[in-house]
Amino acid sequence: MTKYPFLDLHDATAPFRDDIIKAITDVVDSGRYVGGYACEKFEKELAEITGVPYCVGVSNGLDALRLIFRVYIELGVLKKGDEVIVPANTYIASILAVTDNGLIPVFVEPDNRTLNLNWDNVLAAITPRTRAVLTVHLYGRVAWDDVIASRLRDKGIILVEDNAQAIGALSIKGMRTGALGDAAAFSFYPTKNIGALGDAGAVTTYDRKVADMVRSLANYGSDRRYHNIVQGYNCRLDPIQAAVLSVKLKRLDEENERRRALADIYTSNIKNPKITLPLSADQDMVWHQYVIQTENRDEFTQFLDRNGVGWDIHYAVPPHRQPCYQKEFGHLDLPVTDKIARTVVSLPISPTTTADDAKMIATIVNTF
Ligand SMILES: *Cc1c(COP(=O)(O)O)cnc(C)c1O
Repeated sequence: MTKYPFLDLHDATAPFRDDIIKAITDVVDSGRYVGGYACEKFEKELAEITGVPYCVGVSNGLDALRLIFRVYIELGVLKKGDEVIVPANTYIASILAVTDNGLIPVFVEPDNRTLNLNWDNVLAAITPRTRAVLTVHLYGRVAWDDVIASRLRDKGIILVEDNAQAIGALSIKGMRTGALGDAAAFSFYPTKNIGALGDAGAVTTYDRKVADMVRSLANYGSDRRYHNIVQGYNCRLDPIQAAVLSVKLKRLDEENERRRALADIYTSNIKNPKITLPLSADQDMVWHQYVIQTENRDEFTQFLDRNGVGWDIHYAVPPHRQPCYQKEFGHLDLPVTDKIARTVVSLPISPTTTADDAKMIATIVNTF
């Protein structure tokens, strides 16, 4: 029996249960089951919280990313075969969105302390074919550099944010992730900091043309009923999920604050030479995961099992090592990324993890 579960979605949902049921009932009673008020309301709320003029709700985080790249192709900004610089240490969905559009991902090694994009490596990877950079705020850590971002923009390079793991985080300049790049993708997969009761996602942007094209592409490529300007998809946000998300979004800052407090407890209480702690955040962090590193991972996770502490690994196999990319990218030499994949372990930092749990877990980890 796991005494300290990694994440219990049932218990994490419980405090929202009554409000969620009421919000879903409103959708049921509305008679509008695709689009409508619930979607419009959520889009408005997310745009406001993010600090951008446009938000389009979509089906999930991968579709949000796929749509963003496809939009730039439709708008003539990108074309198939263009290079997109991507972090090698990320969840595979970030990369799938690039290759799905016929774009070439150029993997760069992460900074070995932040585990996020190393901006010197980004600059070094630029070629005349580089048309975009995808930054991923992995584990809830802001991956952004204002100076380099403006240098990239001067070169006409598009900046896309994968904000699946960092909703609500603030950059140094006080802007939220999702408002930093030209367009940003959000995921509301149930395990994310704000999770739906199913799949959901969103795109935020300052650019009205981008927002309009995302909306068209996500709705069969139509700009109005039965009028299709591009060959689109069906990637719309479900209004029931939108209603759930509006309920949860109200507690965004509160939830992220709780995660920060838990991370602080881990960081100040875990003292074990076999465990490397995550870097304290230089920019804001919303701690989607609390990721430690250890050379003795199998031993450590077995130790956690024996002591009733839940854990997970994000991620054991990096995208370039996945079978689906073996032919194209399996030959790449990315030792920093490989080492991260071999050593990371995520500790519980869930909506139901308490401060006392975190203290106990830290004590347990110290005896490893
Ligand atoms: C979850 C996630 C995605 C994909 O989101 P889905 O909603 O599951 O499609 C993309 N990128 C990152 C970094 C993620 O964590």
